[in-house]
Amino acid sequence: MPIECEFLGGGDEVGRLGIVLRMGKARLLFDYGMSATDPPKYPAPAPAIDKMFLTHSHLDHCGMVPWATSRYDIDVIATTTSRKVGELLMEDSIKVAASEGYPEMYGKTEVKQAIGRFREIEFGDTTSVNSVQVRAHSAGHIPGATMYEVMGDRTTLVTGDLHTLDTRLVGGAKPVKCDNLIMESTYSGRNHPDRLKTEYQFLKKVHEVVDRGGKAIVPAFAVGRTQEILLLLKDSKLDYWHDGMGKSVNKLYLSEPQHLRSAKRLRQAVTRGREVKNFHARQRAHNGEVIVTTSGMLDGGPVVSYIEAAREDPKNAILLTGYQVEGSNGRKLLDSGTMEFHGVVEKVECEVIKYDFSAHAGHDELVGFAKGCSPEKVVLCHGDHREPLAEALRKEGFEVHTPGNGEKFPL
Ligand SMILES: [Zn+2]
Repeated sequence: MPIECEFLGGGDEVGRLGIVLRMGKARLLFDYGMSATDPPKYPAPAPAIDKMFLTHSHLDHCGMVPWATSRYDIDVIATTTSRKVGELLMEDSIKVAASEGYPEMYGKTEVKQAIGRFREIEFGDTTSVNSVQVRAHSAGHIPGATMYEVMGDRTTLVTGDLHTLDTRLVGGAKPVKCDNLIMESTYSGRNHPDRLKTEYQFLKKVHEVVDRGGKAIVPAFAVGRTQEILLLLKDSKLDYWHDGMGKSVNKLYLSEPQHLRSAKRLRQAVTRGREVKNFHARQRAHNGEVIVTTSGMLDGGPVVSYIEAAREDPKNAILLTGYQVEGSNGRKLLDSGTMEFHGVVEKVECEVIKYDFSAHAGHDELVGFAKGCSPEKVVLCHGDHREPLAEALRKEGFEVHTPGNGEKFPL
């Protein structure tokens, strides 16, 4: 059975992923997301499909699911964790669109409708679309993140976002034998520093800041990164607080313990810290030693008011824990030492450091993963700099494709 593949978005870019696979009578859509840039970027309109598969709930993978389910009579296959977190993010994206004046791609009714179309899958389970069987495997990246193995005369593995190393939050993904490997390539050409070293340096800096009489503000993405940081702070003696949307994600993650490396440790990390539940707690959190909060790129969320209150004191520090995209407030802070507070640009005197706590496989790990899958063809996507990885994989003897958005090609 010939297989045709098409990227609606997320081919040569990190973000707005949408992959269509056509196999005989079955038309499958993997992920349908939006890039949360200013203004947001959307994938091409999805063509008619039979079933949708969601790898995980980051907005660049799930943000356009309600658009698809409101147009087509389709079910969405996903883990329960992806469904729960997805609902939170899709609802939040409506609020963001309204407050920023972005076009409304869907409303609350469409999100509800989408959630009603979710069908649960667990790792190791198989589902079918017409005569095509699809099996779910853990992708490592964040709790509940899934790779899909599409079976037929030729097997195709769609990785979604991928992490092969164990983190504190989730165990790493294992390779799956396949003929075609459709793999993310965010870190093509780049490797991460040693994780344990990064964790050590981060904790050492937090202690140094506290010892000099300052406080550490730790901006962290709500989904995945907040929990990873709380797990890291758990064993310290530090007085740490958590605020923002990460609090809701903590609860959702703890309600699906099967997707966590250790639910017990995450529960301890959450309860050991202090959650900001109301205005008064937020006032007290300002005097805490560490505050972990959203947004991770400083574009809105409680983090802005925490930094506003702390910005004039050089004893304080802002410890960034994730990638800061071009045009974000976090990137502005890194590049110029200033950032925007409610439309006004102000100088920030605090120490600013960025740490690499990435949940994506680095270059060497991607090569190792591909070798473990031993496919004939590798399709690289979700990367804005795919050539170094493509070259490394060609050297290993793989046939490598780097398609652009809108290109249809056989597998
Ligand atoms: Zn992701």
